[in-house]
Amino acid sequence: MAEVAVITGGSRGIGAATALRLARDHPDMAQVIGYVSDASAASAVADRVAALGPMVAPVRADVAEEDDVLRLFAAADDLGAVTALVNNAGLLFTAGRLEDFDAQRIARTMAVNVTGAMLCAREAIRRMSTAAGGTGGAIVNVSSRAASFGSPNEFVDYAASKGAIDTMTIGLATEVAREGIRVNAVRPGLIETEIHASAGVPDRVTLLADRVPMGRGGTAEEVAAAIAWLLTDDASYVTGALLDVGGGR
Ligand code: NAP
Repeated sequence: MAEVAVITGGSRGIGAATALRLARDHPDMAQVIGYVSDASAASAVADRVAALGPMVAPVRADVAEEDDVLRLFAAADDLGAVTALVNNAGLLFTAGRLEDFDAQRIARTMAVNVTGAMLCAREAIRRMSTAAGGTGGAIVNVSSRAASFGSPNEFVDYAASKGAIDTMTIGLATEVAREGIRVNAVRPGLIETEIHASAGVPDRVTLLADRVPMGRGGTAEEVAAAIAWLLTDDASYVTGALLDVGGGR
């Protein structure tokens, strides 16, 4: 049976770069590429992945919706056995101060970035765990350096959601360590993707690059490389790790 990687938020940015990296490294591994709204971007990534070899299915699934997550993993079951999850889907809203944020914004940030990641991890573990008859696997959660810095005056709600991801990574890694599953997180810094446009600051990477010790923003491909490594057996003794990919910050 084919091994399957589920990549949430695979239509753009870091998720798309990860799908392409995994396709190059593991052409025999099937992929489910999750997205929520940009169907044409998801199908373009799927076409590029398929051209490199893997079976691939783009699936629309809002990770904050439990039924959608169940559908996402049902699509993976159709392709083979899930052995990798990249918990990458995430969002942020307009930059500002906490006193200007309403409950709806905060709740949506937590629902997508935290609940969504936990629901996807749950479904992955149910399939991977050797205690449940699975063959094991690896989960990589996409956190953020914001979890350490707190993103004052920008989005403390988003930063707090990534703090939750770090804590979840540590707890879950311990919980399933004897069931053949490794759980790690990457914590990207300032990365060139479209997410900064959602904050209302599309040129945020250029504006803030000087704060980064290396003097530049990172690329989605540089984050994908770290994710890809954590998924391989080269990282077989790495679990519960929070790997900073932030150019020194
Ligand atoms: P991006 O370019 O904005 O892409 C976001 C991806 O997530 C898209 O594929 C989007 O799907 C998907 N998505 C958003 N909400 C979703 C939902 N409710 N359900 C399912 N999928 C959803 O963002 P990115 O910069 O690549 O970010 C990827 C991850 O890296 C996020 O978790 C983000 O917090 C984290 N991160 C990014 C940076 C950075 O500087 N870029 C830094 C640290 C951490 P659609 O295409 O359908 O909208």
